[in-house]
Amino acid sequence: MHRMLADDLARFPELLRSARDVAVRALAGLDERPVAALGPVPARAALPERGEGGEGALARFTERWTPGLSASAGPRYLGFVTGGVTPASLTGDWLTSAYDQNAAAATGSWGAALERETVAWLAELFGLGAAHGGAFVTGATMSNTVGLAIAREWLGERLGVDVSRAGAAALGPVDVLSGSPHSSVGKALSVLGIGRDRLRPVPLLPGDREAVDVTALDAALAALDGRPAIVVANAGTVNTVDFDDLRAIAALRRRYDFWLHVDAAFGAFAALSPAHAPLVAGLDEADSVCVDLHKWLNVPYDAAVQFTRRRDLQVAVFHNESPYLGPPADEPDFLHLTPETSRRLRALPAWFSLTAYGRDGYREIVERNIAEARRLGSGIDALADLRLLAPVRLNVVCFTLAENPAQDRVDALARAVAASGETFLTPTVYGGVPALRAAFSNWRTTEEDTRRVLAALTAASAAL
Ligand SMILES: *Cc1c(COP(=O)(O)O)cnc(C)c1O
Repeated sequence: MHRMLADDLARFPELLRSARDVAVRALAGLDERPVAALGPVPARAALPERGEGGEGALARFTERWTPGLSASAGPRYLGFVTGGVTPASLTGDWLTSAYDQNAAAATGSWGAALERETVAWLAELFGLGAAHGGAFVTGATMSNTVGLAIAREWLGERLGVDVSRAGAAALGPVDVLSGSPHSSVGKALSVLGIGRDRLRPVPLLPGDREAVDVTALDAALAALDGRPAIVVANAGTVNTVDFDDLRAIAALRRRYDFWLHVDAAFGAFAALSPAHAPLVAGLDEADSVCVDLHKWLNVPYDAAVQFTRRRDLQVAVFHNESPYLGPPADEPDFLHLTPETSRRLRALPAWFSLTAYGRDGYREIVERNIAEARRLGSGIDALADLRLLAPVRLNVVCFTLAENPAQDRVDALARAVAASGETFLTPTVYGGVPALRAAFSNWRTTEEDTRRVLAALTAASAAL
């Protein structure tokens, strides 16, 4: 054995303790560290020829790279939709690597069974019935991709074509209808050979809304003259967290032939708050559902779950049969359900966190995040220099400059806010207006954080 490996093997417990110390310092510093890292990155180092051992690598990492890592695990990183890491999920994540299971199949390990238990818990959390099976994937983009791959196979079933064998071209042009789809849907359609241009926008409800106009969707489906289609419903848009009326869309299936995919990446968590659960009523009626977990479940990257009622079609797309892997069984192994074959036991952090905090703990996180988004929204509404672009419907505040919200001025505001070190927000364009979004989905965020964010925004907008 190489000398460095032998040393590390002998000192493995000490090395893990050192890593623990680095982690403890990083987490303790989340409140003081600038939220975004803006400085120049270090010059690239040469490939290490001899190696410095685990302790050496830890020293090199803390010295060269940790100063430039953002405080995205902390309470005031409000860019994109960014969750943190609960204590229990971090514990589960460490042990995922320590046990290093391959959850591809059930052979020789209970890991895959643990994933099945976790998926069943998540289905229940989001109000999905027993007809929905699920699997862990790396993020909502991949969850949307898998859902739309199953939709593509379903179109083949309707048209008498085996897409997994004949290819997507055998379908001819596919119609994908959606109101305010996330950008990852276009990416998924590109990957799947359906094509980004086949995503056909359907008019939205009038006013400050991003939800699809179901009457317009009805008309768009009628115009297909009986051709089967895919509808992507959106349960939580990223700008203003608007929700399509899932029940009304699902009811259209009585008259039209379509696959209903719901992108509920973070909106699915509305189900946890009794006051907001009606926003996702009807989710269970979807044919496939995307839910991200590294956002509001506050587990580490990278984790999401993909649910569907049509496991048979999922196996048709993803099965990976060979003499050494075996054919899909009655309960197909995950390698027959997801793009990956070998896969880490990604479910373990979620299993830990659900075991540690339960439905009740997650309801508290979701409701606190919504309350803080509302608080920031009211604070911004009261400022002369800023104005809200939409009501705060759930956990995102979408706002811009009250006077002349030109792109360069909004960019300058974003830079000034990031430079304050107090918070980090990401830009968007809403209704043609350059804007910023503050998205609350971190389990640590409290009223004191919102006060600091509002103070930073007040100062930056006044100085513009
Ligand atoms: C974040 C998000 C995605 C993409 O998620 P990734 O985890 O970044 O792949 C898709 N849809 C919605 C609605 C999202 O919020």
